[in-house]
Amino acid sequence: MRDILPEDQKYFRHILKKSDQLLDYYGFERIDTPMVESVDLFLRSAGETSDIMEKEIYTIKTKGGDALALRPEGTAGVVRAYIENGMNVRPHPVKLSYWGPMFRHDQPQHGRYRQFYQLGAETIGDSSEAVDAELIFLGHKLLDMLGLDNYNVHINSLGDSSCRPGYIKALKDYYKLRSRKLCFNCKNRLKTNILRLLDCKEADCAEVAKEAPQTVDFLDDECKSHFKHILEFLDEAKVPYILNPRLVRGLDYYTRTVFEFLPDDPSTHSTKPQGGEPVESTSSGQGGSQSAVIAGGRYDKLIEMLGGSKTPAAGWAMGIDRIVLALKEKNANIPDGLSKPKVFLVQLGEGAKRKSINLYESFRKAGIEAKSSIGRDSIKSQLRIANRLGVRFALIFGQKEALDGTIILREMDTGVQETIPLEKIVDEIKKRLKKE
Ligand code: ATP
Ligand code: MG
Repeated sequence: MRDILPEDQKYFRHILKKSDQLLDYYGFERIDTPMVESVDLFLRSAGETSDIMEKEIYTIKTKGGDALALRPEGTAGVVRAYIENGMNVRPHPVKLSYWGPMFRHDQPQHGRYRQFYQLGAETIGDSSEAVDAELIFLGHKLLDMLGLDNYNVHINSLGDSSCRPGYIKALKDYYKLRSRKLCFNCKNRLKTNILRLLDCKEADCAEVAKEAPQTVDFLDDECKSHFKHILEFLDEAKVPYILNPRLVRGLDYYTRTVFEFLPDDPSTHSTKPQGGEPVESTSSGQGGSQSAVIAGGRYDKLIEMLGGSKTPAAGWAMGIDRIVLALKEKNANIPDGLSKPKVFLVQLGEGAKRKSINLYESFRKAGIEAKSSIGRDSIKSQLRIANRLGVRFALIFGQKEALDGTIILREMDTGVQETIPLEKIVDEIKKRLKKE
């Protein structure tokens, strides 16, 4: 797990500000859920044979004997909160957004951490294709607002409980004949979690996956029409997408739509960002394994699985850390969001220092941005800081001034100085700033 140092905070602030602006407008309300939940919640949602449950989950045994887990993702907690707080009586769809740290015992590397941050959006209580399309549109829009224009959404449909069994059977038949070529993990997945075979990042497995049966060929009429309508919405909204028949998600709870925003990297796939025919592409494989920045889909079964009533839903999660890396790689100019100080308070000697505390506070109260460096003693070093900060005024408060109840006001550009009674200094600065 890593530290996020002060110099990186502006990226987080910027991303959260942009996403708030967008998601607020589209009617998403913020929800915060605990970072710790019962292990059982993730067992029931992510599924026993998911990567998350098999190797990534951090568990805690409490003194009372409860088995808890650091949340590996946000959706299960949001759904638990929806059920527990009786949110099913609210007007639907209930649109919720969240952000916060998630924890997975992943192999740490560039863009993959054990504590990472996700921002998510969930639309609960509506099965219409417009919801899926709106979510994808918002992912696209958010990346666009962040100046990241080199991502494409890859999209697929996994069908639902009526047509997926047929697909799973075809997949099993296909893989059984080729099991020799699979990696150790995939040999196990063959028995437990066959869909995940398509998602394996090992080169040999990816090769076998290329010719595997495709979900879209097995969709029943309803699922097919749902998928088709989403694509029509995206065409209308001019969101470029790539049909990716091998896209499955790491979590078991998805039904129908799944999608992932991946960088448009010609070295990993030679596709055009256009709807229409299915195209060759690796979902997360070959060099792209740390590159998905948003992932999501529809999860019509999850709420029921977690004890709620039958309620359709869809959502996505964005990996904030990966967005930060992308912004840095682009050398994006990110505002630090801090206002520029106008005044620097230079204090010399014990008496002045003591009085400085209240003086400094009076600038904050007056809404004037001031800085000081209370630990320093030399006037030269303090004026150097004032210069570096580019303040308009330095206030020099020495032993003599502290005794007299005055302070020296220095205009930094001209070096012109004037002695002012202490009780008038805030007003004097206000007056001079007004003239700016
Ligand atoms: P991956 O295939 O990269 O492991 P995933 O399928 O496990 O991703 P999701 O569970 O869908 O990822 O999470 C959504 C997003 O969260 C990902 O697209 C990614 O941007 C981010 N993410 C997931 N795991 C990590 C991690 N360990 N470190 C940083 N970001 C992560
Ligand atoms: Mg993962």
